[in-house]
Amino acid sequence: MRYEGRIFRPPGEWKSYLLQCTIGCSNNSCTFCGMYKDKQFRVRPLKDILEDIDMAKARYGNSVKRVFLCDGDAIIMRQEELLAILEKLYASFPALEKVTTYAGPRSTLAKTPEQLRQLRQAGLARAYLGMETGWDELLAKVKKGVNAQQMLEAGIKLREAGFDLWVMVILGLAGKGEASRTHALESAKMVNEMKPRHLSALTYMPDEGSEMCDDVNAGRFQMLSPFEIMEETRVLLENITVGPIHFTCDHASNYLSLKGTIPEETPKFLSMIDGALSGSVRLRKEEWRGL
Ligand code: SF4
Repeated sequence: MRYEGRIFRPPGEWKSYLLQCTIGCSNNSCTFCGMYKDKQFRVRPLKDILEDIDMAKARYGNSVKRVFLCDGDAIIMRQEELLAILEKLYASFPALEKVTTYAGPRSTLAKTPEQLRQLRQAGLARAYLGMETGWDELLAKVKKGVNAQQMLEAGIKLREAGFDLWVMVILGLAGKGEASRTHALESAKMVNEMKPRHLSALTYMPDEGSEMCDDVNAGRFQMLSPFEIMEETRVLLENITVGPIHFTCDHASNYLSLKGTIPEETPKFLSMIDGALSGSVRLRKEEWRGL
């Protein structure tokens, strides 16, 4: 119930009680991300976290059905601490159905398969993995902290441990031309190999305080036009061959709202994209977009 700094959560966690387990993000170097730039990463003392759960119990009682562990990478915490948090959450909230978290790829790789299974069995049900791109060169360029092989391994490890794996990619992250196509193709390839249950495609918007935002302002990075974003989305969707994947592209940053199942509804998505490219389907206005 006590929070430090700005708190972020995935859009789907709007009903969740947000429990701050770490301050900031252990990577904090991604060039496109300004979320935690004002925070020095650290793990909160377990005692404080457990006290927060008591405060939430007193205030929300039986109404808590979901809990999201924030900030950027709670899975980095020591195994016994995470298990103590999960145990206390399920003991405190009788109606609790699931606990979810962002899972940084490096922190995920640092856990053994057995540790991940143990967390899953203790009720950590869903992991959100910011894949951003499947393109090795771009992951290095945006300083994600892992290469494509490591990102893939982290995703597979989470899925094989039984997590409900939710992966995010960022449209427009590579810039224009051939880079855009390679980003889409390599991302589709990684999704095919990782086989997440959910995939969200967000659209890049400059985040104040981030390195890439400075590049945009200085003219060193060329943003994609809405139509180029449509073309990139098309290449991504056309090349995802596995499923069923719950696909969302309905974030405030997106120009065209798409939501449904891949591959079943892929033809519908492609036809909507074609409509947007031909001008018969309207795109979200720039001023209505947001992060
Ligand atoms: S994108 Fe994720 S991993 Fe990268 S700095 Fe932001 S919160 Fe950390």
